[in-house]
Amino acid sequence: MTAASRVGSVHYRVEAADLHAHLYRVTLHVAKPAAMQQLSLPVWIPGSYLVREFSKNLQKLTAKQDGRAVTVQQLDKCTWQADCVAGKSLVVTYEVYAFDNSVRTAWLDSQRGFFNATSLCLRVQGLEGTAHSLELSPVKGKPQWNAATGLGAQRINKRGFGLYVAGDYDELADCPFEIGEFFSAEFKACGVPHRIVIAGTPAAFDGDKLVRDMQKICETAIRFWHDRKKPPFRSYLFMLNAVDDGYGGLEHRNSTALIASRRDLPRTGETRQADGYVTLMGLISHEYFHAWNVKRLRPAEFARYDYSKENYTQLLWFFEGFTSYYDDLLLRRAGVMDDATYVKLLNKTINQVLQAPGREVQSVAQASFDAWVKYYRQDENTPNATISYYTKGALVALCFDLTLRGEGHSNLDAAMRALWTRCAAGPMTEADFAAVLKELGGRSFARELTGWVHGTKDLPLATLLLTQGIHTLEEPAQWQQRLGIRAGEANGCVTIKTVLRGGAAEHAGMAAGDEWIGVIAGGQAWRIAKVDDLPMYAGAHRKVTALVARDRRLLQLDLQMPAASTTWRLVLRDAARAQSWLAAGD
Ligand SMILES: [Zn+2]
Repeated sequence: MTAASRVGSVHYRVEAADLHAHLYRVTLHVAKPAAMQQLSLPVWIPGSYLVREFSKNLQKLTAKQDGRAVTVQQLDKCTWQADCVAGKSLVVTYEVYAFDNSVRTAWLDSQRGFFNATSLCLRVQGLEGTAHSLELSPVKGKPQWNAATGLGAQRINKRGFGLYVAGDYDELADCPFEIGEFFSAEFKACGVPHRIVIAGTPAAFDGDKLVRDMQKICETAIRFWHDRKKPPFRSYLFMLNAVDDGYGGLEHRNSTALIASRRDLPRTGETRQADGYVTLMGLISHEYFHAWNVKRLRPAEFARYDYSKENYTQLLWFFEGFTSYYDDLLLRRAGVMDDATYVKLLNKTINQVLQAPGREVQSVAQASFDAWVKYYRQDENTPNATISYYTKGALVALCFDLTLRGEGHSNLDAAMRALWTRCAAGPMTEADFAAVLKELGGRSFARELTGWVHGTKDLPLATLLLTQGIHTLEEPAQWQQRLGIRAGEANGCVTIKTVLRGGAAEHAGMAAGDEWIGVIAGGQAWRIAKVDDLPMYAGAHRKVTALVARDRRLLQLDLQMPAASTTWRLVLRDAARAQSWLAAGD
């Protein structure tokens, strides 16, 4: 094999050119370009449904052929055309500014580097389906840095720098890189090698504890999908960026990029399981489950990604919602969470959905389709305008699962596995889901699909939970919920963030952004610092005056004291009854 044949027909060299300027330099070699070759950068990254215009960070693009500069014309916001001839090696160089500390783009500073190819690697139009290679250069002045990626290595040094290969552009785009000094540990789950690398770990971090729990989570997920068979990847890499404040993850075919608070990492000597650690394990479980549910089994519309524009699907309630249902449930089944913790998390999800007026405006199918302009562009009106396909989608999964279990025929686990087989671990439609439900449940579930997925009526949660020994109690809601606001309370000030549709605050005329200054009731005027202080000042008065500041004007608003409203509290009264669902999964 010659040196030339080892690299793909599209080859990128990536250098961390300037840590302080946060610049990567990319040199792209196209062995056999088309005449007037077009190159473009994706506008979005699969898994995160927002047009992010990654090209805004690309600069100084030049091209050469036969050692001579060729003219490059920019055709639109993310596409360039090189004035080249066909068939002769084309070399394109450019820089990418990388200073977004998220899992979606790229980062480079004196502490670490991270990138997705969707931010760094121009797509060579017409050659997307051919082999691609990426050479990651060692970082000057950082001999102690390592590199990790899910991409297949062709020829790398022991620190992970060197040549990587991808079968096509999609694979390259699906394999982010983590670079720097990081914690690294390896473990096997069902015989398959897994690795976790973590940037930013503090001294008290208990790596052994994390690895032990992760192994249980991964084995539970593999067994969920395959019983005794191997998962659909040869190895798997978790890349976690531990920061002061942050939360999120992006799923890939054999890796995931995660960001979480370093306070949520387990600590040596810790005896009680902190809430933050449960959240972190939920994130790990969620992204890992996606390796099956959305990376392989995926919406028919995602059979091939179009990197140039929004890719719409009505199915995010299934791929995000059902993944959200199973992320916590599998933690329970893996034994890293107890029944009470599971029920508490479920309780929280239910209240989040019940407290969002948008659940009466959009179905989860509509919310999925609109993700690009609604869920991913949250503002003060989001809770009124849409419903999260994560939280309500998880409850839709719960309803299907408990209905199937209640009717004694099957369960959602079996439906997921049946879909995996039916769709050959590939694109699926809602009709496929309907078909497996009918097959396993022995009847049509068209009514449930219409009502729960395409309708806006509340789900039959209380009735179904009771079949598992979980009782639903109603408790007085907090005053923010009773008034229909979401507000921040800091430094003795109340700031309105959201006014919920149809609530007392909306009737009074409060608006997002208002500073709620005081309450006047029965001739007494008070400065308000906490919303829960309202009943103390209002006493028996049914009507009070709320004093708010908006754009420097002081407004006096007539506020009708709201009737009592409730939130749900779930109580597991018959744990034995719930075990086949919560613990065994059969
Ligand atoms: Zn997800």
